Amino acid sequence: MSALKLVKMERPRSEEIFRRATEVLVGGVNSPVRAFRAVGGDPIVVDRAAGARLWDADGNEYIDYVCSWGALILGHAHPKVVEAIATQARRGTSYGMPTELEIELAARLRTALPSCEKVRFVSSGTEATMSAVRLARAATGRDFIIKFEGCYHGHSDSFLSEAGSGLATLGIAACPGVPQALAALTLNAPYNDIAAVQKLFDRHRDKIAAVIVEPIAANMGVVPPIAGFLQNLRDLTTRHAALLIFDEVISGFRVCYGGAQTVFGIAPDLTTLGKIIGGGLPVAAYGGRRDLMDRVAPLGPVYQAGTLSGNPLAMSAGIATLDLLAAPGFYESLDARAKRLGDGIAAVLRETGASATAARVGSLLTLFFSGETVRDYAGAKKCDTRRFATFFRAMLDRGVFLAPSQFEALFVSSAHSDADIDRTISAFRESLASAMESS
Ligand code: PMP
Repeated sequence: MSALKLVKMERPRSEEIFRRATEVLVGGVNSPVRAFRAVGGDPIVVDRAAGARLWDADGNEYIDYVCSWGALILGHAHPKVVEAIATQARRGTSYGMPTELEIELAARLRTALPSCEKVRFVSSGTEATMSAVRLARAATGRDFIIKFEGCYHGHSDSFLSEAGSGLATLGIAACPGVPQALAALTLNAPYNDIAAVQKLFDRHRDKIAAVIVEPIAANMGVVPPIAGFLQNLRDLTTRHAALLIFDEVISGFRVCYGGAQTVFGIAPDLTTLGKIIGGGLPVAAYGGRRDLMDRVAPLGPVYQAGTLSGNPLAMSAGIATLDLLAAPGFYESLDARAKRLGDGIAAVLRETGASATAARVGSLLTLFFSGETVRDYAGAKKCDTRRFATFFRAMLDRGVFLAPSQFEALFVSSAHSDADIDRTISAFRESLASAMESS
C-alpha cells in the first residue's frame, strides 16, 4: 500500500454487486452487522484478503481491523491454516461421525481453560450460549437468567433484550417475535453494577439459573470489568446456587491463551467459545464442569445436536490456529502491537484534546466518541454516533476498515505490522479531525 489516500475511493463495481445483493438477500447482507446503516453508504464488497489486508471488488486495499469479527487473530489466509484446511478437504469435508480431530481440538481447549473439563462443539456462538443456558436451566431446575445490558450473546430468543452489537447499532431494544413469556425470564443488569445483580437475586430468590456475562465486554465497544466485578459475580452465583457462564466467544484465546478467566483467575461453571477456535471456519463450543456437561445428550437428557458440529475442516483450522497461538511470545508480541496502536491513538487524543476516549484490553480496542470513560451500556449510548460515522468514512477513504458501528471492537491481529499500525495512526489523526469538525 502506498501513501494514504486522501480522496474518496471509487467503488463502482462494489456498488453494482451490492445492488444485486439487495434483490436477493435481506438488506444485501447475511448478518446485519455488515450493513453500513449506522455509517451511511453501502458495505464494501470483499474480493479477497491476506494477512492484515482486504481488497474490495474494485481492487481498493484496506488494512482490516474487523478480521471476521475477531475470528482471525492470525489475520487472513494464514498459510498454516490454509494448508490444514486444504489437506483435510482432500480427505473429506464432513462425515457426521466422530474423528480424532475433535479430540485434539477439545484437548487444546481443556489445556487452555481448565474449567472446561468437557466440551461440546457447535457451529456458532449463538448455539453455544443458547445450549449453555438450556443446560444451566436443566441443572438448576430454575428458569430465570441474568444478563447485562450491552452484552451480546448471539441471536437466540433469550438474549435479545437490551443487547449489544447489531441490536445496539440498529437501536432494537427488544426483538419482535420473542414470546413475552420467554423474554420475561431474562433479567438485565447494567454491566459493572454488582449492586443491581444483588437486587435481582434478592427479588428472584431461588429462581435464577445462571448469570451470563462477557468477562470483557466487547459488544458495546470494549468495556473492561471494573476491579472485583467478576469475582463478586462468582461469589454471588455460588452463594445462590446459580451457575456462572462466561461468554468467551470474543475473549477466549484473544486476551491470552486461557481467555479472560485466566487473566482474572476465576473459574466459571460453564464457558462459551467461538470465533478464534475455528480459525475462520464455523466453530463454537460450550464446556464446563464434568458433572454439568454429562447432563447433555447422549449421556443425559439435555438435548442438543448438529449435523455439522465438530466438522473436520473446521476442527483442522482450529487446531492449526491454536498451535500457532501456543508458541512462546505470541500474545506478548500481539499485545505490543496493539499497545503501539493504543498509545498512538491516546497521543493524538491528547494533542488534539478531542472529546473521545480509547478503551483497550490487549488486542481489543474501541474509540468512544464520548469525553467520559465508558463503564456500561448507558455510557456507551451517550457517544456521538454521528461523529463516529464521519470518522468511520474518513478512515475507510484512507484505506482503514473498521467495524461500521460505534458499538463494536477493533481487532488487532498478529498479521498487522508496525508499519500498518503507524499508517493507521496517521489515518486516525486526519479522520479524527474530520469527525471533530462535523456535527
Ligand atoms: N457471544 C459473543 C460474546 C459474541 O461476540 C458473539 C458474536 N459476535 C456471539 C456470542 C454469537 O456468535 P455467532 O455470531 O457465531 O452466533
